Amino acid sequence: MKIFKPADQIQDLQYFGEFGGVNPSISDSSTYTFLSAKTMFDTFEGNAEGCYLYSRHSSPSNLYLDKALAAMEGTEAANVAASGMGAITSTILQLCGNEDHIVTSRTIYGGTYAFLKNFVPKFGIQTSFVDITNLELVEQAITPKTKMIYCETVSNPLLEIADIASLSRIAQKYGIELVVDNTFSPLSVSPKQLGASIVIHSLTKYINGSSDTVGGVVCASQAFIDSLKNVNNGASMLLGPTMDSLRSASIMKNLRTLHIRMKQHSKNALFLAEQIEKLGIKTVYPGLKSHPSYDLYKNMINENYGFGGMMTIDVKSLEKANELMELMQDRNLGYLAVSLGFYKTLFSAPGTSTSSEIPMEEQEKMGLTDGLIRFSIGLDDDIFRTFEMMKTCMVELGII
Ligand code: PLP
Repeated sequence: MKIFKPADQIQDLQYFGEFGGVNPSISDSSTYTFLSAKTMFDTFEGNAEGCYLYSRHSSPSNLYLDKALAAMEGTEAANVAASGMGAITSTILQLCGNEDHIVTSRTIYGGTYAFLKNFVPKFGIQTSFVDITNLELVEQAITPKTKMIYCETVSNPLLEIADIASLSRIAQKYGIELVVDNTFSPLSVSPKQLGASIVIHSLTKYINGSSDTVGGVVCASQAFIDSLKNVNNGASMLLGPTMDSLRSASIMKNLRTLHIRMKQHSKNALFLAEQIEKLGIKTVYPGLKSHPSYDLYKNMINENYGFGGMMTIDVKSLEKANELMELMQDRNLGYLAVSLGFYKTLFSAPGTSTSSEIPMEEQEKMGLTDGLIRFSIGLDDDIFRTFEMMKTCMVELGII
């Protein structure tokens, strides 16, 4: 079997700019001219290949990035959005309507959780939140009304691993979609190759990697992407979470260094996770043998890019977590900030930030403790120096 190599897919893209530039020209128009009224009609009907009608539908710059991300995920097509949530919400609303049902992992990004728990019931869509690592529970939750299984490859913030190949077998058995948010593991995991039908990213994170914009993408079959953009009933076209052309051009440039960055994020995170665990602190990282899905994940990943840059530690109380994060920021070890994929380390306490949408009792059930700190490990050249600084902070605060 030919091994899928996502970084090669990006490397092999060849675009010639309008004037022969090595970068495609940035399209700076919201609307487009037609030489004949008939072509305009055909374009609205979706029958005029190569013609643009209006930039909420698509633009040349967005199509370049669509193509690159579809190549990276090995899907037929893709559609970028103004944010990860723009990609997630339009996918869900495209697939589900009144009386439909979704089975989702209970540990997912807080915004997605809130959308499924609080927002979609307004449209008559119900959701069952399950432990995604328990395949029996997932299958039991499926009803004749279920339209999709939704999960994150590596979940935010608990770093649970979704067994995409097994989930895809379940989805196929019931004729439903498997939608995977791959934000935490670009290049490392290729969900489409493991059987997912739709792959989503918040581009805000690793793919853009410079914390200067939000963005998202849906990678899927040509038919699904066309349906999202349909002028009569497409969620992307009608809800309008469109990415701006200037942004798609800048994200495209950052995408080209993703493979180098992911290797460094993963290398640094593995080193820190191993060292911190040795200090006796509860550390969760999919590359540690103590992670419950270590063997599964090792088989899922493209080892060149490692186990990713996300890890958590538990310092037992919110008070200690806050003190440690403030001290680490003070020592310039990184920033007390949400989000991930930056060159500097970012840390936050998910219970009171990115997962605060999840009610306290649910947080407890899923093991999201008060003292949990989520780290997005940076690109530090000397990670040993970083570890020494981190250790000093922990000693000063009596954590170790
Ligand atoms: N998916 C995951 C796993 C995330 O962590 C986030 C944001 O933190 C999102 C989706 C939402 O993306 P955005 O903030 O770009 O809308």
